Amino acid sequence: MSTIFTQIVEGEIPARIVYEDETTIAFLDANPLAPGHTLVIPKDEYERVNDMPEDVAADVYATIHRLVPAVEDSVDADASTVAFNNGEAAGQEVPHVHCHIVPRFEGDGAGPIHSLFSDAETFDVADLDQITEDLSDDELDEIAADIESRA
Ligand code: AMP
Repeated sequence: MSTIFTQIVEGEIPARIVYEDETTIAFLDANPLAPGHTLVIPKDEYERVNDMPEDVAADVYATIHRLVPAVEDSVDADASTVAFNNGEAAGQEVPHVHCHIVPRFEGDGAGPIHSLFSDAETFDVADLDQITEDLSDDELDEIAADIESRA
C-alpha cells in the first residue's frame, strides 16, 4: 500500500503542487500551521531521512533551499521553521520522508524548536535524566565523539 504522498506523486489524489522536478516534489500542507506551510518530499518512498540515499537527500535539500525563500516571500513571512519529524517517536505520521517549511511571523508565539521540550518532564521516558539534567563535559565529549565516529 503506497503512502498518501506517493498517491500525490502519482496524481491519484489532488494537492496544491508548488514545485516538481525529476526526483522531488513540493506541495501545500493540507492542514497548514501557517499560511504557505509547504512539504518537500522525495518522489520515491523512503520512510525516514536515515533511509534516503545520499543523492536523493542532496536533491531534497536542493529543493528545500529553493523553496524556503519562495515560501517566505509568497506570504511575506519574517522567517521560517524548517524541520523533519523523523520517525514515529518524533511525531512523524506519514511514513514518507517530508520536510516541513512553516512560515513564521514576528509575534506568532509558536516559539523555537526548543519549545517542543518545554514540558518534557511530563513524558514518561525511562532515560528522563538525559533530557532534563545538565550533561557533564565528559558526557558531552562522549556523545560528540560517538556521533563523529558514525558520521
Ligand atoms: P508529519 O506529522 O510530520 O508526518 O506530517 C504530516 C503532514 O502531512 C501533516 O502536516 C498533514 O497535515 C500533512 N498531510 C497529510 N495528508 C496530506 C495531503 N493529502 N496533502 C497535503 N498534506 C497532507
